Amino acid sequence: MSSIKKVLIANRGEIALRILRACKELEIQTVAVYSTADKDLKHVKLADEAVCIGPHPSVKSYLNIPAIISAAELTHADAIHPGYGFLSENADFAQQVEESGFIFIGPRPENIRVMGDKVAAIEAMQSSGVPCVPGSDGALDKNTKRSVKIAKEIGFPIIIKASGGGGGRGMRIVESEDELEGSIELTKTEALSFFGNEEVYMEKFLTTPRHVEVQVLADQHGNAIHLGERDCSMQRRHQKVVEEAPAPGISMKLRNQIGTICSDACKKINYRGAGTFEFLFDKNKFYFIEMNTRVQVEHPVTEMITGVDIVREQILIAGGEKLSLTQEQVEIKGHAIECRINAEDPETFMPSPGKITQYHAAGGLGVRIDSHVYNGYNVPPHYDSMIGKVITFGENRANTIIKMQNALDEMVINGIKTNIPLQRKIMNDKTFKKGGMNIHYLEKMLGEDES
Ligand code: ADP
Repeated sequence: MSSIKKVLIANRGEIALRILRACKELEIQTVAVYSTADKDLKHVKLADEAVCIGPHPSVKSYLNIPAIISAAELTHADAIHPGYGFLSENADFAQQVEESGFIFIGPRPENIRVMGDKVAAIEAMQSSGVPCVPGSDGALDKNTKRSVKIAKEIGFPIIIKASGGGGGRGMRIVESEDELEGSIELTKTEALSFFGNEEVYMEKFLTTPRHVEVQVLADQHGNAIHLGERDCSMQRRHQKVVEEAPAPGISMKLRNQIGTICSDACKKINYRGAGTFEFLFDKNKFYFIEMNTRVQVEHPVTEMITGVDIVREQILIAGGEKLSLTQEQVEIKGHAIECRINAEDPETFMPSPGKITQYHAAGGLGVRIDSHVYNGYNVPPHYDSMIGKVITFGENRANTIIKMQNALDEMVINGIKTNIPLQRKIMNDKTFKKGGMNIHYLEKMLGEDES
């Protein structure tokens, strides 16, 4: 039982439903908030209470802090779960939630703030012993000679990144010294206009890394654990398409090493809640790139191989409970894969919103569907095109891929286009079946790689 009695879910779609399910299991009341385009969302129908917080543009509803806090006051909720995206990594929101007397189901505002500033995040990580990409160790100043010297020491190619960047924007690869000064200036100008912060820094550009990330949980009593890693290298335009856990080829020893570094870092920075340390993984070495201070889309693959309900832990931690298990009790078993299902054309990737005329979900042992859609549901055009996730869990990777192939074959979603044909292609791809692809592989497979 949690000390939290009523949770307001400040999100939409599959994650809102995921949070609602966790609350129901904990016998916690739920409040859904929704935009005028979203009154038919499944969790809105299932929640104990539902409040319309504004029109469809996100800035007027899901990003509207006063409207969300008012809804919490109106319904006497005692905690707010932000999900992912929207306000989940907005330190000001977390702070206002707490200052208004509610529990924020997430990290402390100061942790969110530091991690949202990449230069500050890297500094915090370096001083906590987390391995980072060789780079400028801080922001670049106006001294071009110094920047050239750092770049030469690191070795070209290098990448210039905006400290306030996000969503794969505000980065520029530099191949040689003569491009350096111009690239720094250009990235600064872009960073200022995109993120309102012109600070940029430099990192070595790793040419063929994998994306491997570590899931952590930390309570408010000084305990922190890791739940192993996920491989999210199958990406298109920096968007993850398929995720899996554990990451192929990572030994138990390496997992425990990097995992312990991450859980120790959580203790050092006084972290609270669920979080993810994202790394580029190259030649068997981890290089930190950023920390996500929220639950992630791909959290289910970790849940499947550890049996730990991450959203439940988030809620219990926020309510002041201790972690429900120790590091020694974390046991990694089997393999899990997640395919994101998007309402989009599988060839052109254009969004394909509209009415789902027929829906049938896959099933069976080791098949999990996290989705809010149903027969007759109208996918609105205003939000992210992800309409759900198919997750399979098996004793090993090969068997999990077969389960995924079968699950994808069973899925029926008519009326709109989805990327299921693309996911089928990936599950049948020889290289994917071997595992351990780098972050450029999917674009190469699709013939989109520019290099
Ligand atoms: P964002 O917050 O915008 O997602 P990240 O720092 O997580 O920014 O980087 C996004 C992506 O850019 C990474 O997943 C990777 O593909 C690429 N990238 C970032 N830094 C490097 C680097 N040093 N070397 C190679 N690729 C990089």
